Amino acid sequence: MTHYICTGECKGETDDETVGTCQAESCNKFGEPLKPCNCENGRHNAH
Ligand SMILES: [Zn+2]
Ligand SMILES: [Zn+2]
Repeated sequence: MTHYICTGECKGETDDETVGTCQAESCNKFGEPLKPCNCENGRHNAH
């Protein structure tokens, strides 16, 4: 299932595509677009 992740410090994750941007004010990517991810293991394509 597609979810959306923040690639910044907060490592935020949401299933709600209407959120769209990072919601963590302390994050270095606050307000930046979240990245769609389709992983099924929770690692978000981490290496
Ligand atoms: Zn973030
Ligand atoms: Zn993922």
